[in-house]
Amino acid sequence: MPFDTLHAILPATARDDRQITLIEGDKEQRVLSFQRLRQRALAVLGALQRQSLAPGDTMILCLADNERFLEMFWACVLGGVVPVPLAPGATDAHRQKLLRVFAQLGPKASVYIDGTSLERLDGFAAAQGLADQAAALRARALVPGSLDIGGEPGQPVSPRPDDLAFIQYSSGSTGEPKGVLLTHRNLCANIAAIIEAGAFSDRDVALSWMPLSHDMGLIGFHLNMLACGASHAIMRTDLFARRPLLWLDQASQRRATVLCSPNFGYQHYLRQFALKPPQGLDLSAVRLIFNGAEPISAELCRRFTQSMAPHGLPPNAMFPVYGLAEASLAVSFPPPSTPLETIELDRTALRVGAPVRAAAPGSAHAIEFVKLGRAVPGCEIRIVDDAGTGLADQTVGHVQIRGDNVSGGYFREGSGNGASRVTPGWLDTGDLGVMLDGQLVITGRAKDLIIVNGQNYYPTDLEEIAQQVPGIEANRVAAVGVRDASEGTESVALFVVHRGDLAGFVPKVQALRRIIGQQTDLELNDIVPVSAIPKTTSGKLQRYALALAFEQGEFATIRSELAGFMSAN
Ligand code: ATP
Ligand code: MG
Repeated sequence: MPFDTLHAILPATARDDRQITLIEGDKEQRVLSFQRLRQRALAVLGALQRQSLAPGDTMILCLADNERFLEMFWACVLGGVVPVPLAPGATDAHRQKLLRVFAQLGPKASVYIDGTSLERLDGFAAAQGLADQAAALRARALVPGSLDIGGEPGQPVSPRPDDLAFIQYSSGSTGEPKGVLLTHRNLCANIAAIIEAGAFSDRDVALSWMPLSHDMGLIGFHLNMLACGASHAIMRTDLFARRPLLWLDQASQRRATVLCSPNFGYQHYLRQFALKPPQGLDLSAVRLIFNGAEPISAELCRRFTQSMAPHGLPPNAMFPVYGLAEASLAVSFPPPSTPLETIELDRTALRVGAPVRAAAPGSAHAIEFVKLGRAVPGCEIRIVDDAGTGLADQTVGHVQIRGDNVSGGYFREGSGNGASRVTPGWLDTGDLGVMLDGQLVITGRAKDLIIVNGQNYYPTDLEEIAQQVPGIEANRVAAVGVRDASEGTESVALFVVHRGDLAGFVPKVQALRRIIGQQTDLELNDIVPVSAIPKTTSGKLQRYALALAFEQGEFATIRSELAGFMSAN
């Protein structure tokens, strides 16, 4: 491996002919050479050191301005201060996560945050009875512009490969977000693996709209490209949210070779694309588009690829990948520029320990999965049963990983930066999957799996079926296992975003019962209208939060009202 600390990725000799372009608007762009980034980071480090920040201190980075983020991230890394990237954002989920993480890190943590977000945090905290936490955070807040960066540049430290480099919080899809401890060795091993498995080089031209607080944006994109010496452009995430078409306009103008977006981004793009098809796009230089971080819809991949084909997008550009915060980032990649491979499996045979069955052609029991390639170099994957015994290929089980890229543990409340290994040697990803012809397929999360009368149901599968009903959209429907404490049984509750009166919901309930019954034999008793589905700061569904609320009786009134309407119809 040519580098074993992050310092080697942004060295004193960082190239001046390679640059990061920060896209802030249609015409608004700023350019930062790699060398200039290092100089700016050292200037910020000088300010931190004058404020007595020392190696091992933690610094939450929670801001949408990518240039400020990069300067502070690198100031911390070069000075041995531990950055803790968190998604900036204006929702309660973002503010809650920020306060929780600050409380977990302890009162000595600093927080780099913009002034407006800080003010809004105060308002939120006051309403939630969390004013004391917000006041403690404010006392440790650093706001861009307030740093004294005019003095002597800071002194970088010389870390060892096994020193902590940063703390990466998991998304919080299945519970409280966990602070994953990542060492320089973990990160460098994964970056080297990403470069090899994706065949990245300094000839690549990359463009991303992913936030730098997200592992795919920070490690898979920025650190990866910097390590390759490849120029890259980072578009603000809120800009992509508002104006998705700008993403591929920019890709076309720059002759980008590498792009990335999780599943929901393609849908967001295609919606606008259908309304206002752009003119003169040339995507022929694109070599690959990372698609990961959440379940991948094969149908959406095809739709996106077909829609972009007339604009020159090569047919094999879609690059479906699998990873998680605990692995630094990447676990499995397919070979670049190969056709998307999918498989249709019979949903009735997707149990831990059971061999998968190919679905009969045209079967109502078929689920289509995207194959996610092989383990990246230096990372191993194994599939085990509930007792931890290894399973043969073609058999569904728990996905476990090990390798230099895999974190040694999580940050634990009140115990400093002490790590705790999850499973000796191997780390359980929390996902279920199967190896098919040497390629990994993820069937779903173990915690979200619903077992009714001995049959397994995957929420993502039920949610996809639900979307066949007109008016039911992705990310606005959640299938959740709920327990009846008195009987000890589990059943499925389907939550559907519905705005309008209950009478208008009745036909949807009837259609959902029919279609899910036809395709899965499941009798759905609970279909609950909700105003929104709880989500993580990265937009993933939090099914566990719905289950908890349901079991605590939060939906009892609406369920009985709906039952009244149903019997009247
Ligand atoms: P938490 O661990 O806090 O509950 P999380 O697991 O969503 O949240 P991340 O580490 O950010 O936190 O996300 C990794 C998870 O995302 C994986 O474990 C997997 O469940 C899902 N995931 C990532 N890539 C894919 C993929 N290609 N297909 C299906 N699922 C994926
Ligand atoms: Mg996880």
